[in-house]
Amino acid sequence: MTQFYEKVRDRLIRYAKVDTQSRNGVSERPTTAKQFDLARMLKAELEEIGVSEVWLDEKYCVVYGKIPANTEGEHKALGLVAHMDTAPDASGTDVKPWVLENYQGQDIVLNKEKNIVMAVADFPNLKNYIGQDLVLTDGTTLLGGDDKASISAIMTMAEYLCANPDIPHGDVCLAFTPDEEVGGLARDLDLQRFGSPTAYTLDGDYLGYYEDETFNASAAKVTITGRSVHTGTAKGIMINSVDIGAEFMNMLPAFEKPQYTDGREGFYHVTSFNGSCEHTEIQLIIRDHSAVEFAHREAYLQKVTDELNRKFGNVVTLEINETYRSMKEVVDQVPYLVERLVRAISDCGVEPHDLAFRGGTDGSALSHRGLPCPNLSAGYENAHGRFEYVPIQSMEKNVEILLRLVQIYAEED
Ligand SMILES: [Zn+2]
Repeated sequence: MTQFYEKVRDRLIRYAKVDTQSRNGVSERPTTAKQFDLARMLKAELEEIGVSEVWLDEKYCVVYGKIPANTEGEHKALGLVAHMDTAPDASGTDVKPWVLENYQGQDIVLNKEKNIVMAVADFPNLKNYIGQDLVLTDGTTLLGGDDKASISAIMTMAEYLCANPDIPHGDVCLAFTPDEEVGGLARDLDLQRFGSPTAYTLDGDYLGYYEDETFNASAAKVTITGRSVHTGTAKGIMINSVDIGAEFMNMLPAFEKPQYTDGREGFYHVTSFNGSCEHTEIQLIIRDHSAVEFAHREAYLQKVTDELNRKFGNVVTLEINETYRSMKEVVDQVPYLVERLVRAISDCGVEPHDLAFRGGTDGSALSHRGLPCPNLSAGYENAHGRFEYVPIQSMEKNVEILLRLVQIYAEED
């Protein structure tokens, strides 16, 4: 047990109790006002710790803080970003976190009254945490360790740094953002105010994992216009747009779908199909890690559209909109970012794992806005659901990794 153990444990429990659930499908920014509750708490805490330039954006609900460099010479700033909201997939109201110490590999009764049990058979990763201490839910809400485990680690690192001014460091810039879980993509993070030219997001499951690559992602809408006439006299006249829609679907590669792919394999995924003889609309998403393959996928949709138009006479239109792009091409331009992160992880006795993330992070969008931003995992498990838990030892380790990162940034130019 390190001196950080109680700090990270108590912080996670305190933050988890604040309901910060974000909402899908609303245009307000932030999507829920209650995210300000945690934002205000963090602002006050940063001030108390002694972080300077603490600022809460009262409009967009972003918290900023900076620990200014205390060394001579030029060192690159270290930027850290984590999100405050929790996923809409499970309730975040009235979260009752509790701690199971020295876990022994058994099924865990989360809620005796309601007979809610987390079984090892269903969640085999539990076996990885034998002997550790777990922060758990009461089985009726999520925990919000995604991403409050990261906030706890960052705050604890900041507190330690402020309390020990003899530790040399460059600028350390912090930001806590809203709405990650509903595709906010940290769009309201003011890069000027943030003050660091690069950053790391902290978000993700397993300790020691990091991501410098995400999917490239687009959404496509296919619209097909048919020609409806009486079925009795339809011969040679009717154009049934449902049939053409089905033909479109059949031309998509059969096994390049989410249910048949993993690792670095990309896919097409039809999210909705609505049609009548007169009008059919297909919504789909395209994903690929490789920018080249991704471009091929977009081009392939266009080819299918063109072929069907040739066959049926300009009845199909295709509209493709970018969702996010992989951070890889941007992060690769700044090799020290990943190199230092990997060094910090392994210096702390944790094996670093590179993950080609099958999704997007706020860092994907931030990277393309000019803030190269790989991701470091927070160490939570079963995020977005009632069986979420966080090993306290993972948070402790992340504090050490962050402090080592601070040190590495202070040692290098
Ligand atoms: Zn998250």
